[in-house]
Amino acid sequence: MTPYPDPRIPLSDDDQDAAPAQRRIFVFEKGWRISLKTNSTREFCYQMAPGDNHYHRLLDGEVFLQKDDEKLCLACACRRRLIAHEPRRLKDVFVSLPADELGVPLEVR
Ligand SMILES: [Zn+2]
Repeated sequence: MTPYPDPRIPLSDDDQDAAPAQRRIFVFEKGWRISLKTNSTREFCYQMAPGDNHYHRLLDGEVFLQKDDEKLCLACACRRRLIAHEPRRLKDVFVSLPADELGVPLEVR
């Protein structure tokens, strides 16, 4: 028997409350990407955890966020609000323009 829940069976609300780590994860900040540490070389999270006076190590097999040389464990990325658990809603994606800019073509990159 696998230790993982059967993905074909939907989780009940009770299961979701009991396992917050199974919530979906979204990263909307530009420049950040998800990485997986696949070795045991010494690398550190770029942010100290609350109450710590040292930078903690990223561990073999750990999923983390990376932007250029900056690496953050998921716990610190959550504390910095780089991780969301809800998808963007349409009202968050569209930006309203003042009436005098409506005729100006919008440059999309
Ligand atoms: Zn961290």
